[in-house]
Amino acid sequence: MKVRLSKDFHFEASHRLDHLPKDHPCYQLHGHGYRVAVEVYGEVDPQTGFLIDYAELKRIVGPIIAQLDHRHLNDVEGLPVSTAEHIACWLWKQIKPHLPILSRITIYETATTRCEYTGE
Ligand SMILES: [Zn+2]
Repeated sequence: MKVRLSKDFHFEASHRLDHLPKDHPCYQLHGHGYRVAVEVYGEVDPQTGFLIDYAELKRIVGPIIAQLDHRHLNDVEGLPVSTAEHIACWLWKQIKPHLPILSRITIYETATTRCEYTGE
């Protein structure tokens, strides 16, 4: 039996998109309370009944999310532009080597906007 499950993480960070026109709201220094849904997909272990223990997911992903918490995202190494699109890709690159069953990163920048990345 294959299942898809996800766990939510949060971080607070500032950024500015200084490549945009000066009258664009994202040009100004501002912050977000980001929510990140980390989704995994795969076969359920018949012994445990889990795809992965949520505690294991937290042990792997928590320290990576912590690298972004209370940071100015423009200063994060390997993040060329601090858009949700690039943050999702950055998180994928950090998490995937430690979590091969990773299948999707969804980052919610605001209550109404989100970006999904599946490694393509
Ligand atoms: Zn923003």
